[in-house]
Amino acid sequence: MTHHFKPAQDFCAPVTPPDRVLAFYQNRLLIKKTSNGVAIPQYRELASMDLAVGTRLYLGKRHNAVYSGWAFQEEPALPDDLELAGLRSLFGRMEDTEFQIAGYAMQLLNWVAENRCCGRCGNAMTFEDGERALTCTACRHTLYPRISPAVIVAITSGNRLLLARSGRFPGQRMFSVIAGYVEPGETLEACVQREIREEVGLSVANIRYFGSQAWPFSGSLMVGFTAEHDGGEIRVDGKEILEADWFAPDRLPEIPGKISIARQLIDWFVAHH
Ligand SMILES: [Zn+2]
Repeated sequence: MTHHFKPAQDFCAPVTPPDRVLAFYQNRLLIKKTSNGVAIPQYRELASMDLAVGTRLYLGKRHNAVYSGWAFQEEPALPDDLELAGLRSLFGRMEDTEFQIAGYAMQLLNWVAENRCCGRCGNAMTFEDGERALTCTACRHTLYPRISPAVIVAITSGNRLLLARSGRFPGQRMFSVIAGYVEPGETLEACVQREIREEVGLSVANIRYFGSQAWPFSGSLMVGFTAEHDGGEIRVDGKEILEADWFAPDRLPEIPGKISIARQLIDWFVAHH
């Protein structure tokens, strides 16, 4: 049975030591190699090691196991059964819920690292009791973790799907669905229309919610939609999008891996066409 993760009410660690530690050094997670994959290390396995830990966050509990998030100040010297690994490379190699907790930890640790000082008055920030927030020690300005909403949309035309190659990774051959960040003051639906117009010059109808995914690598909430082509010819800007085309389900180009909602949208298209 799957046990759900319960986030802590605040980030101040309880007096008792944690059970499991999600420790990061420069976005790489400390993992323990096991016979059937990787696992999150137990606190007792790390307690005797000489580790330079900066931030320690109390993350929450899962089935009475207390999870803590650590940020190393310098690269730790590790025994053979422990290693640092990029979080993305661990998808499918560790249990899904622990992968999600690790993404939560990474996002929060990055948020703390980027907000040591108050953006309003410049004094030090500290953890607020009873809130998942940072508060300024001088002016009491409170800061909650920031999430950037983004839309991601599968555009269909009959039994073909629009896929585009991004200018952000010019060396890659990979094609994906259209995505972009929501602007201030914009609805999700308006964002879908605008991104599609800007990136591939099309208009769409029948915009429908598909599902969503937290994406810790960029601190985003990806909100997935499907939409139908309603006018215009493909026109790319050659910068943000290098090429785009309509693809039949049995003739797809190189597409993203199973980790992403982009792939779930593409798999949905293949399953329904
Ligand atoms: Zn302040």
